[in-house]
Amino acid sequence: MGGSGGALRSLRELNRGLVVDALRRNGAASRAELARATGLSRATISTLTAELMKDGLVVEREGDRDAESHRAGRPPVLLALDPRAGTVLGIDFGHSHVRVAVADLSSRVLAEHRDELDVDRSAAAALDRAAEMATAVLEEAGVPADGVFGCGVGIPGPIDQRTGTVGSGPILPGWTGLPAAKELADRLGFEVDVDNDATLGALGESAHGAARGVEDVIYLKLATGIGAGLLLGGRLHRGATGIAGEIGHILYDPQGKLCRCGSRGCLETAAGAPAIAALLAEAYGGELTTTDVVRLATEGDVGAERLVRDAGRAVGRVLADIVNVLNPELVVLGGELAAVGEPLREGVVESLRRYALPAATAAVRVELGVLGDRAEVLGALALVTHGHGVRRPGTSALHAAPAQVLSPSPIIR
Ligand SMILES: [Zn+2]
Repeated sequence: MGGSGGALRSLRELNRGLVVDALRRNGAASRAELARATGLSRATISTLTAELMKDGLVVEREGDRDAESHRAGRPPVLLALDPRAGTVLGIDFGHSHVRVAVADLSSRVLAEHRDELDVDRSAAAALDRAAEMATAVLEEAGVPADGVFGCGVGIPGPIDQRTGTVGSGPILPGWTGLPAAKELADRLGFEVDVDNDATLGALGESAHGAARGVEDVIYLKLATGIGAGLLLGGRLHRGATGIAGEIGHILYDPQGKLCRCGSRGCLETAAGAPAIAALLAEAYGGELTTTDVVRLATEGDVGAERLVRDAGRAVGRVLADIVNVLNPELVVLGGELAAVGEPLREGVVESLRRYALPAATAAVRVELGVLGDRAEVLGALALVTHGHGVRRPGTSALHAAPAQVLSPSPIIR
């Protein structure tokens, strides 16, 4: 009995997963659209959607789109995931913090915690802490762990999407070769998708912030490290092995300081928050943090403001070449340093005008992110709700469909 029954049940589970996944990606869809998106028969779709509605996972809503049944004079009945039916978790690791949030399926954040932590020093300790925080936010939101659809995670280093491991040793040494998704999934007990932090910042601003509806975007995360998330032609660009966007390690000054990557004079050594804090400390004494730099610069300290503007110029110098190559429509400045605002933005724009092709400069807007230092964690949530994950062997049916062009999704508003 059990053998074939089990196989049938798992096929049914797989097909249910395909339907849920299609709804997650499309927001709302008619039964005919679901059949097309999943490759399942209309009859199977009818059975599965009836079941999903009975389980309270899917709701019917009146269609008002110009779908095919309009031509027959009848508005299509659309199916959508019920936002109250489950939750998603987002975890954002910076070099010196962890942030964890839980949201419903409409991306409404229910609880969120942030902790200062030396993430670079020990991957195991950082992962343990994140798992504890995940339990805490679920408790605070009053939602059960078995209602979690999935968890998106941002890590400040290159992620090789073929293997889900953290690549390139020098950039995040304590994490190299670590199967981060599996490690966290083991700790949390549910599906985990891992991506680069700046890539998730780009996804966050694209789903909910300054880059909504824009297809060619460079998102800059300016913090302890400097990284770029690339949205090109509406798709996140990670490169062959996840290194795309590591602009913090582009050469800025051949005679500059030694970088943690082993190279010399990388952009990060000139414009990363620790470099600014060190220069500021020379004048003020003591030890200064990124928060101190931002506070002084926003309170009108002339020296701090000048240093941040110069950092913006350095970033703009490197960005100019990238703008020539990629011809983006929008550059979004994010990360903790972006809280300084105009002095940083003006520095970037000044260098773009000086070093990029006039036609490329004329085509691009440079704006401050609207999500602040929450862009990455909101992007981590969007990785699950908007489905920008990349298919990897062994991932669940929830992640089985190919990554799609980003489009505003009704369930995410
Ligand atoms: Zn470097």
